[in-house]
Amino acid sequence: MHTTASDGTLTPTEVIELAVAEGVQVIGIADHDTVGGVAEALAAGARLGVEVVPAVELSIQNRIEKDFVELHLLGYGIDYTNPDFVAVLDRVVQARIEQKIAQIKVLQRDGIDVPVEEVFALARGVPGRPHIAQVVLARNPGRFPNKAALFREYLAEGGKAYVPRRFSLRLAEAVDLVVQAGGVPVLAHPGAYPGVSDPAAMVRRARDEAGIRGLEVAYPYDKNRPHYGASPQQVAALISQFADLADSLGLLKTGGSDFHGAGKNIALGEQGLTLEEFACFKSQWPNPKPQSGSVF
Ligand code: AMP
Ligand code: ZN
Repeated sequence: MHTTASDGTLTPTEVIELAVAEGVQVIGIADHDTVGGVAEALAAGARLGVEVVPAVELSIQNRIEKDFVELHLLGYGIDYTNPDFVAVLDRVVQARIEQKIAQIKVLQRDGIDVPVEEVFALARGVPGRPHIAQVVLARNPGRFPNKAALFREYLAEGGKAYVPRRFSLRLAEAVDLVVQAGGVPVLAHPGAYPGVSDPAAMVRRARDEAGIRGLEVAYPYDKNRPHYGASPQQVAALISQFADLADSLGLLKTGGSDFHGAGKNIALGEQGLTLEEFACFKSQWPNPKPQSGSVF
């Protein structure tokens, strides 16, 4: 799940309160490139009886020749206080901030009204392209028919305001970082990378060349690009295809909602694991470390 620490719209405490209301018993807090929401979520979880898995969703440097385009790596069960881990995340976030400012400048040069301060105020935590999009769409009515058109013309890979980051992690570096922080590296939503030409081959390469240990098999593909609007049968087919792939490659299987609050039309807990599946996943973690406030 994402919180206001990145591009979610609910605070970590609000996410946990919603989990209680919805009967969700275990939650992974996996914000983009930050663990800024984890401590608050752990405290709220301890208070309200929800098991919180400290996590992160790392954005990976694009390697087009390897089909590693816009990949996201989940790190579950990390020691989010590990100083080396936190130091690398700080560098990633700094580069992300510079990238967002550069992207906003391109939009401004094209006459689009999008003040940097407004984007950063909206972001509260780590800024992302969805924050830029929200401000652009609100301040420039009629300029873009919808968010997808804005991404296509400006923000998506290949768009006019797509700017690479000065520093970002390669997949193998991100995997090592997660493992060193005591976590399990899991490749997120393998079927939701519009820029990846062959997801199955990409996953195999991610295991062989970078050492991922798990695959996010269950995912609300119908609520995300490039399968937006897919039927329940199509979603089930994708999930079963990736479950088979994970089994054939010896990867742990996980599931996630990618919940963003109001940022996406996804329910909390959608496509999550059953408690049995979670127990199975957790029993195979390499070296979960005990942390105050968590159950590990
Ligand atoms: P960033 O973290 O700044 O790279 O932004 C990544 C987020 O932007 C993703 O998690 C998506 O939610 C969103 N995003 C990326 N590409 C698109 C797109 N073409 N249309 C809509 N949202 C997108
Ligand atoms: Zn993701």
